[in-house]
Amino acid sequence: MTSARGFVSVALADDLNRMTDEQLLELRLCDLPLSIEGTPLEHRVARLYEEMDARGLRFKPHVWISEEWFTPDRVPGFAIPFYLAHPRLAKLERAQMLEVEGGTERDCLRIMRHEAGHAIDNAFHLHDKRRYRELFGSFTRPYPDSYKPKPNSRDYVLHLPAWYAQAHPAEDFAETFAVWLAPGSRWRKQYTGWSALNKLKYLDELMWEIAGKPPANRSRVRAEDLPDIKTTLREHYRNKKKHYAFQWPPNYDRDLLRIFSSESRHDSCPSAVGFLRRGRRALCHEVAEGTGVHHYAVDQKLAHMINRCRELNLRMSLTAEHTRQKVLVLLTVQTMNGLHSGYHRIAL
Ligand SMILES: [Zn+2]
Repeated sequence: MTSARGFVSVALADDLNRMTDEQLLELRLCDLPLSIEGTPLEHRVARLYEEMDARGLRFKPHVWISEEWFTPDRVPGFAIPFYLAHPRLAKLERAQMLEVEGGTERDCLRIMRHEAGHAIDNAFHLHDKRRYRELFGSFTRPYPDSYKPKPNSRDYVLHLPAWYAQAHPAEDFAETFAVWLAPGSRWRKQYTGWSALNKLKYLDELMWEIAGKPPANRSRVRAEDLPDIKTTLREHYRNKKKHYAFQWPPNYDRDLLRIFSSESRHDSCPSAVGFLRRGRRALCHEVAEGTGVHHYAVDQKLAHMINRCRELNLRMSLTAEHTRQKVLVLLTVQTMNGLHSGYHRIAL
């Protein structure tokens, strides 16, 4: 890096905090002055490596900054999204996408464990093994545009949201690895009676086998490295929103508007988001008990409902008890519909 370039980067890093969202959106990703070193990401990557060390794994995935979380095909490392490398960009991400995926240390490590699962799979070509294919399925099967998870299935571990292990055999392996790796993981107990336990046991054997060994694939390729991405943040978010657009049932907003209100006469009433957040655990429990669907599954639906209420800026218009009853009915219907309608793939 030249000193001139270095000077520009330093000036820009300071400037990010002073820039408006509109100004930030004009920047190209390649011009963002970011690095993993010196940010909380450095500590999180170190923690991931410690967790792998604790399991005797000599292999460590290399990491770099890009647009999103992903592990490229055949690469034993993974990309981390740029917005986690600067607090101002995390704030922009929240303003644009309503959530910051991996924003907390806990969530970040959950995703990193998943990506490390893909990376170790690539590092040792684990997917070529016969037993891998028998348990997880064919690694080379094309990725679907969406998948229809069975929320009650006991064939898959639960880790990332939306029953992501069911999206593809490679995701199933990565999710299983993440559950196995987590410190204090009590997977043997937690998955007793599940057929997912067979996958965990196999993975455990496999990891014992490769513990202490260097990887067969030592590529240090960085796909879509940040300095190579010429698109602006505005273009990036336009594409991202298109990709993540959730397929809402046609009458979903109408249903919410029967419970909550967007009219100005209710401006001084409590927010729908606050109401749903406070009741989240209890609502989730009641619907899970009533439908037989896993608690985790119902909570996903409720999270979507809270996001939609935030987008529509809805407020309460009925008594708390009446509101609660109506939410319970809507959430139950949504949960049951969700079982049959399929889910869009999240890009991980
Ligand atoms: Zn994945």
